[in-house]
Amino acid sequence: MKFIDELKSIVKGNLLENEPMSKHTTYGIGGPAMAYINPKDRFDLFNILKFSTKNEIPVYFIGTGSNLLVADNGIEGIVLTPAKSLKQLEIKKNRVVAESGVMLGKLVKECIKHNLTGLESLIGVPGTLGGALVMNAGAFGGEISNFLESVDIMTMSGEINTFSNSDIDFSYRFSSFKKDEFILLARFKLQTEVPEIINHKKLKASSGRKTNQPLRYRSAGSVFKNHKDYAAGYLIDNAGLKGTKIGDAEISTHHANFFINHGNASASDISALIRIAREAVLKKFGIELELEIRTLGFDPKELEVYV
Ligand SMILES: Cc1cc2nc3c(=O)[nH]c(=O)nc-3n(C[C@H](O)[C@H](O)[C@H](O)COP(=O)(O)OP(=O)(O)OC[C@H]3O[C@@H](n4cnc5c(N)ncnc54)[C@H](O)[C@@H]3O)c2cc1C
Repeated sequence: MKFIDELKSIVKGNLLENEPMSKHTTYGIGGPAMAYINPKDRFDLFNILKFSTKNEIPVYFIGTGSNLLVADNGIEGIVLTPAKSLKQLEIKKNRVVAESGVMLGKLVKECIKHNLTGLESLIGVPGTLGGALVMNAGAFGGEISNFLESVDIMTMSGEINTFSNSDIDFSYRFSSFKKDEFILLARFKLQTEVPEIINHKKLKASSGRKTNQPLRYRSAGSVFKNHKDYAAGYLIDNAGLKGTKIGDAEISTHHANFFINHGNASASDISALIRIAREAVLKKFGIELELEIRTLGFDPKELEVYV
């Protein structure tokens, strides 16, 4: 039996064969994955992981691809996401348990409804809870890890492990989860607060986002991490690169750390802009910009400076 037919025979959730990743990234960019799967539940996930290990087929975990650049040639392997199936969310008093496929926006709104404070500054950050944990998503002074108690992950052998917050290293847009750990769910302990104060913080964050970010265009948010002394957008802007275009990709004139897709940009257009920005900032400021976005299917050299 062909590998894909065998895989189809075991998967209970939704499997899309030869699926363009452009349909599953906020950039709207990316070639096909051999199979793109929303496992039905953790048993389905377990069987898929077992199958891929036995057959030595690479697997990649994603959320909604809002921090992801996928190469034009696509991905030789299976892509797994919890985005359409692992979506349970439970709030009891000040404790929240959410599966990794819950959208971060939904989690934030539900906490606000229950007068729980701590996550409201993350309002407007796209993506799933799983992606937010891996990226330690943050905005306007808050980070997803701040009120986190513990996380359950599944290993490639199907074991479920619980990590408490102190078992995981979190820092600016970094977590110590391994590439082969699938995040299943997370538990948070928040504090109660009067609605007026929570709403004030939420409105401050969402209006800041609307002012600072080119939200009308397709992007994956900030391309580079900020340097300890300078915002990456400041460095790219001061290297004279705002508005630089390759094909349909552009370094935003609104926020220089956002690279936008005007419609038909390819991954190689975005990666060319990445190299241009890295080269110009290195030449002008002697600073090496570090990618914040995650990439799939690239030879790492493609994203480095030409010289
Ligand atoms: C307009 C815009 C604004 C943004 N603003 C912000 C912002 O203010 N702050 C911020 O921090 N980010 C921001 N981002 C980036 C992005 O939204 C976040 O990084 C988000 O948390 C990614 O979630 P995702 O589900 O889309 O993850 P993906 O992009 O799909 O994946 C991100 C990483 O997480 C891993 N991953 C995802 N799910 C799982 C899982 N279940 N198990 C294991 N690994 C997994 C992937 O392998 C990948 O390495 C913005 C993006 C856009 C498009």
